Amino acid sequence: MKIKLTLFFISVVLTVTGQNLQRNEINIPNIPGYVTLKCDFHIHTYFSDGEVLPRVRVREAWQEGLDAIAITDHIEYWRFNKGEYSDRNKPYYDALNEAQNLDIILIRSIELTKSMPPGHINLLFLEDVNKIDTVDYRKALKEAKRQNAFIFWNHPGWKSQAPDGAKWYDEHTEMFEKDWMNGIEIVNWDEWYPEVLDWAIEKNLTLIGNSDVHMPINDYLNQFDFEHRPMTMIFAKDRTQESMKEALLAGRTILWFNDLIIGRKKFAEKLIKESIKIKSIQNISENNYYVHIQNHSDFNFTISGINGMADNKKLLAGNTIRIWINSENSIEEVLIKFENVKTSSEEVLETMIHF
Ligand code: ZN
Repeated sequence: MKIKLTLFFISVVLTVTGQNLQRNEINIPNIPGYVTLKCDFHIHTYFSDGEVLPRVRVREAWQEGLDAIAITDHIEYWRFNKGEYSDRNKPYYDALNEAQNLDIILIRSIELTKSMPPGHINLLFLEDVNKIDTVDYRKALKEAKRQNAFIFWNHPGWKSQAPDGAKWYDEHTEMFEKDWMNGIEIVNWDEWYPEVLDWAIEKNLTLIGNSDVHMPINDYLNQFDFEHRPMTMIFAKDRTQESMKEALLAGRTILWFNDLIIGRKKFAEKLIKESIKIKSIQNISENNYYVHIQNHSDFNFTISGINGMADNKKLLAGNTIRIWINSENSIEEVLIKFENVKTSSEEVLETMIHF
């Protein structure tokens, strides 16, 4: 009886303190000189209009295989009017312990929620959120810059604020010229904005893609049948906040939205070359070859253009495909068009994949 009671108490203690969590490791390669960090910079919690606590957001991110998150509650819409929970830094403090336990990089952040223009704006890497003005967005942005924040314009093509599509106003030019806009969301929630990708490339703004999740992340993924949330992949010198900020300011990002990969050509090309290899080439008869192309990443590719091949082929995550090629010269590399790797509103990536 005594043993049974002891076991009972042990099991109760274990249930309370030893929550069993599982992490899905996302298999996206590094590129030469940089580590690839998987991030979501737009997340809401119960402190504004989200449904879950900040610390739960950390666990969700860890379970999904992310490296870093920014909790960005609406600074103007706060659930708690007084007491310690009215502190705009509180979501960060609530999540910090769990973030340290799980080695998730947590970025102190907030969302400014203004009508258009300028619309909604996220401020990352803040020192003290309480000092951000909740009324005058210019004062808020100026203070954010004084705190060395990274600033980006959220969902410029969001129908509620841009019924005729994304529109760049004078206020955005002002923000851009004052260095109050470092990046822009190309992907948000369940949509992406091809025209905004072109603006960003032209103006040298950092490409950002986020979930903007308000509900529990699994409800969100189920709602859209997404295998992963939209995310920003950063190429950082190392896995620290300082390096992340440096990478963001330098524009070293790629976005992953369902099966779409969106980014500047030079980074997309580097990432795809690390994701795909020619595994073997077999000379089966004169001028005829079998080429085995292996995808050792978690990306699902749609490819075309090999040896004049007109139709699209799937090269799914972790898979190898065999392609027949007729060539008068010996083969060491293959030109492949990646139909789902967008480098502008009109263009997709076409690159040589080597043996
Ligand atoms: Zn938001």
